[in-house]
Amino acid sequence: MTLVEDAPPATAPVGRLVDQFELGLDAPICLTWELTYACNLACVHCLSSSGRRDPDELSTDECKAVIDELERMQVFYVNIGGGEPTVRRDFWDLVDYATAHHVGVKFSTNGSRITPEVARRLAASDYVDVQISLDGATAMVNDAVRGEGSYATARAAMENLAEAGFGGFKISVVVTRENVSQLDAFKEIADHYGAQLRLTRLRPSGRGADVWAQLHPTADQQRVLYDWLMAHGEQVLTGDSFFHLAAFGEALPGLNLCGAGRVVCLIDPVGDVYACPFAIHDEFKAGNVRSSGGFAGVWRSSDLFLDLRRPTSGGACSSCGHYDSCRGGCMAAKFFTGLPLDGPDPECVRGLGEMSLAQLGEATPPKPSLDHSRITRRTSAEGAVTEPHASVAPVAVAAPIAPIAPVAPTAPTAVTVAFTPRRPDRACDENPLANFEPSPSSC
Ligand code: SF4
Ligand code: SF4
Repeated sequence: MTLVEDAPPATAPVGRLVDQFELGLDAPICLTWELTYACNLACVHCLSSSGRRDPDELSTDECKAVIDELERMQVFYVNIGGGEPTVRRDFWDLVDYATAHHVGVKFSTNGSRITPEVARRLAASDYVDVQISLDGATAMVNDAVRGEGSYATARAAMENLAEAGFGGFKISVVVTRENVSQLDAFKEIADHYGAQLRLTRLRPSGRGADVWAQLHPTADQQRVLYDWLMAHGEQVLTGDSFFHLAAFGEALPGLNLCGAGRVVCLIDPVGDVYACPFAIHDEFKAGNVRSSGGFAGVWRSSDLFLDLRRPTSGGACSSCGHYDSCRGGCMAAKFFTGLPLDGPDPECVRGLGEMSLAQLGEATPPKPSLDHSRITRRTSAEGAVTEPHASVAPVAVAAPIAPIAPVAPTAPTAVTVAFTPRRPDRACDENPLANFEPSPSSC
């Protein structure tokens, strides 16, 4: 993988890696591909407002053509999500096709289709990793966000994976006001299965925009989260989610840079390419894989991505002593709360984001361009979410599930750029640049 055309020539002095990555790469390191908007759950904070399938979703052949292109671009793995990706009838066909074409797969799921049989199949593959979503360490906290029965379903999937001998699957938690106090409990669940805990930030994207004000961690909780991450950083993945917290002191592991359009992007179910999975809005749409240049053309030449790779000034944050590590925070979080992109993050640890939000008054922040939600969610008179976004039909859970003995956590496996027979489990979990070594000719 090499830097894009406008990167410094081979003879230029080599600067900090982070500065080079600001210029972008000729293929994304952290590519998310949402295969469908269909989902059997209706989580209140769904970043893609999923629920109903879109009739224009990429066909099986079109998906395979994208995989062919990813192979040519040497994209060594892809994060597959949705919606619930496993509801696509061709899901396993596409997973097999990707791995046969040297594109490793890590997919996110609510666990409803991870039966014992599927778990055994997954355990037999070196090229597929699984991430089970869980947003509460107890059913009460989880199900308030993800829907009734979803905690039991997720735990059953974990049991099935562990029983099948699938080592080191991921448990993915969106950190909210309701579950910050459960960080240790999440870790215990992960340790019990020999799984790895992954914490991600709640962004005001998709349906998350509607509940962000109620559910995002308070200022005090941000500090608790930072301290917890500092204490457990080596054992917990964060996908570089929390780099805005670096302003508390020492930087957390990661790139500490918004990678949107530089090292990160999203292909949505209809083939639209966005700068980031949390930025599904026309403002951040760079093109479509169905266009003549395909995905590579969008990634390498779209005006939006070229623009995002230009150096930025830091705007209102440039005089902040923490700018080098915090970088003004998350573009998507700012955009969907109505804050200027060159200003502080809404969760700025200095409180400047909160002040900016207060100054916005009644101004309406931008709405996500797409909404595939199934029904309208109800909130209490106080505005708190009182029930799942939709009533969730009980999902089939493989049973009976025997209790399992705690399994020793699997040691993290380093990712290299070469395609090797192991699960693609780290590259943009802990750090989008984990073990990425640019070739000598690239810098
Ligand atoms: S917009 Fe936010 S979530 Fe997306 S890459 Fe940038 S910092 Fe990460
Ligand atoms: S002012 Fe900007 S750079 Fe400083 S901590 Fe806040 S968001 Fe980060």
